[in-house]
Amino acid sequence: MFENLSGRLGGVVKTLRGNARLTEDNMKDALREVRMALLEADVALPAVKQFIADVKVRAEGQEVVGSLTPGQALIGVVYEELTKLMGAQNDALNLAAVPPAVILMAGLQGAGKTTTSGKLAKLLKETQKKKVLLVSTDVYRPAAIEQLKTLANQLTVDWFPSDVSQKPVDIALAAIDHAKRHFYDVLIVDTAGRLAIDEAMMAEIKALHAAVNPVETLFVVDAMQGQDAVNVAQAFNQTLPLTGIVLTKMDGDSRGGAALSVRHVTGKPIKFLGTGEKLTGLEPFHPDRMASRVLG
Ligand code: GDP
Repeated sequence: MFENLSGRLGGVVKTLRGNARLTEDNMKDALREVRMALLEADVALPAVKQFIADVKVRAEGQEVVGSLTPGQALIGVVYEELTKLMGAQNDALNLAAVPPAVILMAGLQGAGKTTTSGKLAKLLKETQKKKVLLVSTDVYRPAAIEQLKTLANQLTVDWFPSDVSQKPVDIALAAIDHAKRHFYDVLIVDTAGRLAIDEAMMAEIKALHAAVNPVETLFVVDAMQGQDAVNVAQAFNQTLPLTGIVLTKMDGDSRGGAALSVRHVTGKPIKFLGTGEKLTGLEPFHPDRMASRVLG
């Protein structure tokens, strides 16, 4: 797992050879490489700065032990810190609620909320044998309601009917009532998104959150958005008590820097990665794997 970064740092870490201790001075060039790698992976600058500062504090003065070269010791610290920053381990979905456990999906239009709702329904149905109900509260786009129905039918998962003439809160409450009466374990509530953050959307999702009291509020964000993802994440995090993040479109050419940035600004765990348009393309998030990907 250390190979990529080792390769990248190549000559730089060799200059550290012979030093028995990591110091600010002898780490300088190597840390500059790490900084470049993070920026190239599209990690937002404040997150990069914080990260480099943390690594410095942790590595400085550290004795180089055993058969490690100082360069390897530094690379080890970088990976460990990066993994730690992204959550250390996979955070599982929390479904501990009086049924139905409600999962609220939040995010901008096009982020992948509807697709992820379908993927999540499939995952819960197949791996945990949950009885799942899907509902769309996107009353602005009839196509979005249709999209969710089509997905649900494809997956043979039930969906609760909704209509553009209804209010999102009313739809969600009716869906919860239906889910209770028909013994569903999980209700996934898909919400409307806009192309950019706007107050009306934020007010609506806040009201929806208050009404449905979800056990999981997942912020769905397109990893390809890179640094723009930061502002969006910040706005959603300030509006809603997010419980987790889904990074979609990780199958694209993104190096995954958004993972680090979004984690940095929200402090919330990334729970899943979207890895394709197909409904099988949802994976639990593993911080160590992402650390390798980000550092390239
Ligand atoms: P919503 O507006 O947030 O509900 O977004 P959608 O679920 O409609 O997704 C927008 C587009 O992104 C669709 O064309 C999806 O097929 C695509 N999409 C969603 N998730 C992924 C993913 O993980 N990988 C890829 N390649 N495409 C995705």
